[in-house]
Amino acid sequence: MRNNKSKGNISTEMKLISTMKAAGIKGWRRGAKLEGRPDFVFFEARLVVFVDGCYWHGCKCKGLPKTNTRFWEAKRLRNRARDRMVSLLLTRKNWKVLRVWEHQLRKTPARVVKMIEKALNIR
Ligand SMILES: [Zn+2]
Repeated sequence: MRNNKSKGNISTEMKLISTMKAAGIKGWRRGAKLEGRPDFVFFEARLVVFVDGCYWHGCKCKGLPKTNTRFWEAKRLRNRARDRMVSLLLTRKNWKVLRVWEHQLRKTPARVVKMIEKALNIR
């Protein structure tokens, strides 16, 4: 499942990388071994950023598939429960946790930049 997530998520992560580069946001690392394997980690600001694929994480912008509906519903519920648990554990360890939906990155990248900058206290 973890493999599926990272593979399915690559293009979204790339999109965030280019968005952050264009906005001049620096200082992030990838592949840090923290709880839930955050997609991006800003160690100095103690900020972690997850990019959640709308499909896998059950965003409202995606309806349930017509086939295997129960399976997908259960899978997404599990994913979301795990997301919440991971956020909680990181928050308890004094990390700021930012979750970015795939569709936000696609539709309103400028808002995503603002969210990150705010969390980093840049603006
Ligand atoms: Zn979505």
